[in-house]
Amino acid sequence: MKIAVVKECKEPEKRVALTPDSVKSLIKAGFECFIEAGAGLATGFYDSAYEAAGARVYSDKQALLTEVDVLLKVNAPLVDELLLLKEGSITISFLYGYTVPEIIEALLVKKISAFAMDAVPRISRAQKMDALSSQANLAGYKAVLLGANALGKIFPLMMTAAGTITPARVLIFGAGVAGLQAVATAKRLGAVVEVTDVRAETKEQVESLGGRFLEVQAEGVQTEGGYAKEVSAEYLQKQKELIVKHIAEADIVITTALVIGKKAPLLVSEDMVKSMKPGSVIIDMAVESGGNCAISELNCTVIKHGVTIIGESNLPGMVSVNASELYAKNISTLLLHLATKDSFKWDMDEEITKGSLITHQGEVVHQFTKEILN
Ligand code: NAD
Repeated sequence: MKIAVVKECKEPEKRVALTPDSVKSLIKAGFECFIEAGAGLATGFYDSAYEAAGARVYSDKQALLTEVDVLLKVNAPLVDELLLLKEGSITISFLYGYTVPEIIEALLVKKISAFAMDAVPRISRAQKMDALSSQANLAGYKAVLLGANALGKIFPLMMTAAGTITPARVLIFGAGVAGLQAVATAKRLGAVVEVTDVRAETKEQVESLGGRFLEVQAEGVQTEGGYAKEVSAEYLQKQKELIVKHIAEADIVITTALVIGKKAPLLVSEDMVKSMKPGSVIIDMAVESGGNCAISELNCTVIKHGVTIIGESNLPGMVSVNASELYAKNISTLLLHLATKDSFKWDMDEEITKGSLITHQGEVVHQFTKEILN
């Protein structure tokens, strides 16, 4: 089976779907790998390294796409790319199908089977394929570093002859993958870390990393597959009352709250930003899905009411070497799970196939995507 990797078109994107090492393992498993010239260059993976791993490097993207059976990408394929692929071919990438109806339309027209990395179920069997987690983990780490860099203070307690420096205070919304890595990173740097999450079960995880859990005294929230469902307005009000004091004392606020398939919950209002100390920093990690902070701006760093607000939507891309290595491992493990060197298995009742297959034979087959698109 012929597999292609092309240069990512979304700007600024340095990640690449396969590394030379992952190409080597796929070739060993019997696949043929085709790489667009320069696909890994931004991350330091030269064409020569792909060639040494056994891939064929193509300068002509159009010719490449018309020849292959499977297209692997980090971000969703573009409509123009899909129209070049053979009818009935396969794509694997992040897709967020419910947000891109025009791409779904092109997938249906070309009868392309699209697997979405963002829809791989978060079950233990699929951990090696879980790109949402591998990328969010790196993003949580990078968010803390960006915050530390933008803050005019250091993180740890420091006793010097000239006086004592008190530790920075970091407040984190959401203790999922990104949030927990942010807790660990901020603690390692010496900050005092406070965390709030609607899922009560995260308390123990936060505390085991040395963070303090701020618990909202209200009805617990239902969860599904490790994800939070939307909480009531009453819960959000109680959370707001609890947070008001802590946010005013924080030096850095990192927001990672996510409800899958919904707009991000609004947790930091403009008034809360106004209450923060001048020079403090907010990193709104949910900025791409609408933002947890009312006044963050997508892919911009702005200063409002004396607070630096960072709205970077591609934090993993800022550590593109590790992000590409982990993503390549995730995507090639998924491919090896779904296919042999000769064909795809199409085991439609199998949980990972069923969970991640969005379109197939000209239809949207993914229930959740279907419901949101209708
Ligand atoms: P996750 O599902 O593992 O964690 C999200 C957490 O938010 C969950 O623990 C959930 O219970 C919690 N939550 C939901 N509603 C809440 C509320 N009202 N108050 C407090 N907590 C609430 O998700 P993740 O993989 O850790 O990703 C977190 C966020 O970061 C997502 O929005 C994701 O899209 C984003 N992300 C951003 C980047 C970037 O570069 N900016 C990179 C990766 C992920």
